[in-house]
Amino acid sequence: MRSPSPPKPPRSTQRIGLSSPITRISLGLTALLITLLLLADLVLGVVPSHGQQERLLRKRVAENLAVQLTGLLQTGDHVAVGRTIQQVLARNTDLRSIRVHRLDGGMLLQRGELPSADDLRGDHASELNHLRVPILAGRQVWGEVELVFVPLESGGLRHWLAQPGVQLLLVLGFGGFLLSHAYLSRAMQYLNPSATVPDRVRLAYDNLTEGLLILDPQARIVLANKAFRALHPAGQATLHGQPIGAMQWLLAGRTAELPEAPPWQRTLAGLGKVEGEPLRLPLPGAQPGENAERHLRVSSAPVQDDRGRLRGCMVSFVDETELQRSHARLQDSMAETQRAKAEVEQKNQELQRLASRDPLTGCFNRRAFFEAASEHFEQARQLHQPLCCVMSDIDHFKSFNDSYGHAVGDQVIQVVARTLGAGIRPDDLLCRYGGEEFCLLLPGLAPAEALAVAERLRAAIEAEAQRAIRGTEVRRITSSFGVATLLSGARSLEELIDQADQALYRSKEAGRNRVTLHERLPA
Ligand code: GH3
Ligand code: MG
Ligand code: MG
Repeated sequence: MRSPSPPKPPRSTQRIGLSSPITRISLGLTALLITLLLLADLVLGVVPSHGQQERLLRKRVAENLAVQLTGLLQTGDHVAVGRTIQQVLARNTDLRSIRVHRLDGGMLLQRGELPSADDLRGDHASELNHLRVPILAGRQVWGEVELVFVPLESGGLRHWLAQPGVQLLLVLGFGGFLLSHAYLSRAMQYLNPSATVPDRVRLAYDNLTEGLLILDPQARIVLANKAFRALHPAGQATLHGQPIGAMQWLLAGRTAELPEAPPWQRTLAGLGKVEGEPLRLPLPGAQPGENAERHLRVSSAPVQDDRGRLRGCMVSFVDETELQRSHARLQDSMAETQRAKAEVEQKNQELQRLASRDPLTGCFNRRAFFEAASEHFEQARQLHQPLCCVMSDIDHFKSFNDSYGHAVGDQVIQVVARTLGAGIRPDDLLCRYGGEEFCLLLPGLAPAEALAVAERLRAAIEAEAQRAIRGTEVRRITSSFGVATLLSGARSLEELIDQADQALYRSKEAGRNRVTLHERLPA
């Protein structure tokens, strides 16, 4: 039966999880890279700082303005000075105010917002926001231009993240981690994972008679023991590190009644262990017949670490080919024994029949008749049930032998026996008592009923027997009958038969072809 939803096959790529060794190595490599970068920055200043850049930019704006103002002041064009300052303010949105004053402190111009005392502070922090650049008149300082900028943001996550150095570190950190993780995952597939299994463990597994595979969580072979490799010619190739799903020869013999996913796939999908699933392994090049395939039993069990997490699975292959063959041989010989037994039973029945029947007529012989008739006689006597005995003898039988030969005589006996057998019930007994003499036992029949039966039999012989003789036309066949009943007081079967015989004798005496009932003689 197929399972309703087959488990997902294990993913072929390494997952990113903190517990994975690849993730940990990737994190370590990234940390080393960033440490190296920070050291390089410390020694060589390779990472640009946001403040430095901004300071350079602002200084350049201030110096350009000072140069322009120097030219304009020399021409005495104060209107142009005001216009230039206005334009500079308009172009630089982070510029809040510009002031020009002479060396003696006299204010010439002030544009933009009025700077606060904080803005004009001379400490280090304000150096970025408050710049003063001298204006020269020839070689002498004429005055200075004072620029007040919007304060540079110095805190907050966004400001920190906006710094190029931080962005560089973030890109290198994330990118480096992802790239090294992908690279290591790929590289691990090509490394020999069996190197992780110590040689002595491998040797111990090689001594096992059952085939054994150890798979990693991605269903790649970590170990394949000697017995497994010997199962199939394809097992001789290098199996270490191979995904088991790529080994088509191992899956070729899976039949439709089995679940769709093989045992190891179910175990790796977290469905627990699988025990003794049958697997037929076709062998290449083998002729159809005895050695065309191996019969295996596959079991798989999860391999877990200390914390119970799935680390792979162990798959065992028990070769039952020989067992199956001896089972088949056993079945064959059992069937043979059964056949022989039936034959013996049939022979016994035949022997039994031969031992109890007369060969010429198939009627009971005397021994079998006495055996069965005694039981009826005892039962009838004990239970006071009626029982009758009939003796019958073919009339002038000797003349059939004399006139038509012994073979026709035999036929006459057979025909009469058949006619007698056809006229009685299945439970009545018919015995060939002597040469052409028959004895019948009719249990449960009262004398009148037994007389009627005997009369019917007599009439049937008279009417049918002659015509039943094949090959020769014989004269009419008749029989005489004598009937005795248990009611006459016979104390034994022999006495009852004797009484019937006496009655038969009287039939013969009275002219034959008739029925006579044995009458109890007066005391
Ligand atoms: P009755 O009417 O008085 O009975 O005369 P019968 O001739 O039938 O009686 P008898 O006892 O004189 O003859 C019986 C003969 O049956 C004697 C014997 O040769 C013959 N006989 C006995 N057994 C067989 C047998 O198996 N086959 C054949 N063909 N004849 C048999
Ligand atoms: Mg006779
Ligand atoms: Mg006779």
